[in-house]
Amino acid sequence: MTPSSPVYRGRLAPSPTGYLHLGHARTFWAAAERARAAGGVLVLRNEDLDAVRFRLDFVAAMLEDLHWLGFRWQEGPDVGGPHAPYDQSRRRPLYRAALERLHSAGLIYPCTRSRRDVLEAIGAPHEGAGADDEPVYPREFRPPPGTPLPPLDATIGVNWRLRVPDDEELGFADGCQGAQRAVAGRDFGDFLVWRKDDVPSYQLACVVDDAAMGITEVVRGADLIKSTFRQLLLYRALQAAAPRFYHCPLMCDDRGQRLAKRHDALSLRTLRAQGVTPAELIPRLAAMT
Ligand code: GLU
Repeated sequence: MTPSSPVYRGRLAPSPTGYLHLGHARTFWAAAERARAAGGVLVLRNEDLDAVRFRLDFVAAMLEDLHWLGFRWQEGPDVGGPHAPYDQSRRRPLYRAALERLHSAGLIYPCTRSRRDVLEAIGAPHEGAGADDEPVYPREFRPPPGTPLPPLDATIGVNWRLRVPDDEELGFADGCQGAQRAVAGRDFGDFLVWRKDDVPSYQLACVVDDAAMGITEVVRGADLIKSTFRQLLLYRALQAAAPRFYHCPLMCDDRGQRLAKRHDALSLRTLRAQGVTPAELIPRLAAMT
């Protein structure tokens, strides 16, 4: 790094919706290690916007598990820092301001279609493979061009979506996975920026925070590569510089299924209760990345 290049700023961005497992630990290890190797700063951001799945006890457990593993961060909800607060639930005014910018630029529209409507229109199964990614929103569901945009209510009661530039090819050079390409409107469609239960979407909150916190490299799981394309469109729409990206390979269980928080057997808590020590785990994580 040259003296004039910005200090490396990375982040860990766990959602407190379950206990952290080995897959998280491996991604976080990679994130922490890249920040350390670059002589940079690591930020911990608590992604607690999902009021339905969020539980306060998971926040404490998450911090405890990360400390137990030996992770240290220079900014975060427990240590403060220049970009506080570091809990997304306390950053709503920033997300709302971004929503208002997207609205004034005419880049979003309100949508009353349900997820079921979308899945039926594209002939996709309601559950199963890909159910955790947003289905491609059918173009025919968009309001016709020229439809006047209703104002944003103080409390949002409909889904708002970003209109993606149809057929534009987007790309980025991933630090781990190499060149990535996707076509807007085909590989992913108009996506949620704000939900009808008045919660900002993950995509919007993540971009607003990574930009505001000056993150220079986002290290996360490869399950979020498609989200990165959506987020690149948001960076452009909000006229913010995008960080670099490094997507770690996903960990699978012995049946080839992606590890998820429901895999309690591989939660850090369980491993710890079984007497596994960080000194044993860290080399395993390092060998996996
Ligand atoms: N909070 C997200 C998760 O736990 C990660 C988001 C990100 O790293 O961008 O899955």
